[in-house]
Amino acid sequence: METKDTLYIGGEWVAPATTGTIDVISPTTEELIARVPEASEGDVDRAVEAARVALGGPFPQLAPAERAEYLTKLSQAIQARAPEFAETITSEMGSPSSWALMGQVLSSTMVFDGWVELARTFPFEELRQGALGPVIVRKEPVGVSAGIIPWNVPLFIVALKLGAALVAGAPMILKPSPETPLDAYLLGEVLDEIGLPKGMVSILPAGREIGEYIVRHPGVDKVGFTGSTAAGRKVGAICGEMLKRCTLELGGKSAAIVLEDADLASAVPLLMPNALMNNGEACVAQTRILAPRARYDEVVDAVADAVKATTVGDPADPSVAVGPLVAERQRERVLGYIDKGRSEGAKLAVGGGRPAGLDRGWFVEPTLFVDVENRMTIAQEEIFGPVLAVLPYDDEADAVRIANDSDYGLSGSVWTQDVERGIDVARRVRTGTYGVNQFGTIDLRNPFGGFKASGVGRELGPEGLSAYLETKSIVLPADYQPPA
Ligand code: NAD
Repeated sequence: METKDTLYIGGEWVAPATTGTIDVISPTTEELIARVPEASEGDVDRAVEAARVALGGPFPQLAPAERAEYLTKLSQAIQARAPEFAETITSEMGSPSSWALMGQVLSSTMVFDGWVELARTFPFEELRQGALGPVIVRKEPVGVSAGIIPWNVPLFIVALKLGAALVAGAPMILKPSPETPLDAYLLGEVLDEIGLPKGMVSILPAGREIGEYIVRHPGVDKVGFTGSTAAGRKVGAICGEMLKRCTLELGGKSAAIVLEDADLASAVPLLMPNALMNNGEACVAQTRILAPRARYDEVVDAVADAVKATTVGDPADPSVAVGPLVAERQRERVLGYIDKGRSEGAKLAVGGGRPAGLDRGWFVEPTLFVDVENRMTIAQEEIFGPVLAVLPYDDEADAVRIANDSDYGLSGSVWTQDVERGIDVARRVRTGTYGVNQFGTIDLRNPFGGFKASGVGRELGPEGLSAYLETKSIVLPADYQPPA
């Protein structure tokens, strides 16, 4: 069992303020694999103090490209230890190793690389012609920022927030989830290794109480939150009350629309890895598959075959596609939704319980419901497990209506042989990212975020960077001439 006795605060490994600890339990073996300090209020206070000093220090004054050089080093340092990061994430939360290296780790370094590119081209200061004369429009760091991180893709979510914050020159306090503190320790080691100026980053693993303490802290100016919609509402309310800047990346219940001209032989193998991505613990998972009534049985058969063929087991085994869920409570929650699906009248076509032979570990069989109506709980609520539903629709307008009949609006896709028709459908679905014959809807250089209850604001791209900047207009005399 691994133990840690320090926290990374303001760029130093220091003794925690209290003796509280977090037990990290393997979702595969149910055994205790690590014990780390749990950050407390005193640790947050120290981190905020260090961050405020750093905000007034040299790092935010560097040119954006110089700030971004640290991200190049960070990306390279993570790449150098990529298998270790991937194995760590697999061991702490059960992400299948067949996916984790790319989905959890290399995708994160690609995000950091994207921020480096953007730092070179983003207009941090522009001279514009105003109503009465020239105006300098300038972007400045938002202040001290906080990154509240969920357990499902921990390093990737850090990259979305930390990359933007550092390019912007905003110090960041990261709060990993209690389920996934171990990859955050590796992150602390690489941040140390690249010599990031002190105070720019602190890493405080803890639960929701400390999360809320960070959000409420008067020394924190901006909160980048990723997590459930319920927690996001709370965080957003606090930020609203305190007039803090806030980005919320929340849950989803996305729909994949299979149009009647779709080529199922190519569409289904592409769609399935999305639907069951990361054991179904993915905010962008497209778990509602909408099929035209005329081809309903054909779609169901193709999806059912794919779900049946999905291997479940030890996530460290590279042949396994679906590993255990993160925690016992998550397995119970998912099994509860499966019961609800049955009791509301949906038909179980595949799975529906715990896989045979896997007595230890929080496994749930990849599960497919058919004859699902969109009003049912399993079609409306985010299950966050390997549970899919195929729903019939009458025509294209009906498919768009069903896709939009959701509190959420995070992701989605359309499958068709006519790309223009697909783009037309994409324009009508109220969601933040969308794929036409594409299962991955997060483009690492372009904005990502939610409509409706899936969030507020955007990460990635210029929009994501802007979320860590304040805008200042400096109005100049009409005859102002910039220095040659
Ligand atoms: P969660 O809301 O329980 O926790 C997320 C993080 O917020 C954790 O670090 C937690 O400790 C902290 N937290 C919880 N309540 C808080 C509060 N009141 N104040 C401050 N911090 C608080 O979510 P989770 O179970 O860790 O993650 C799964 C959820 O995250 C799913 O709903 C999923 O869709 C969502 N998610 C969204 C995205 C996205 O980009 N939209 C990405 C990944 C995950």
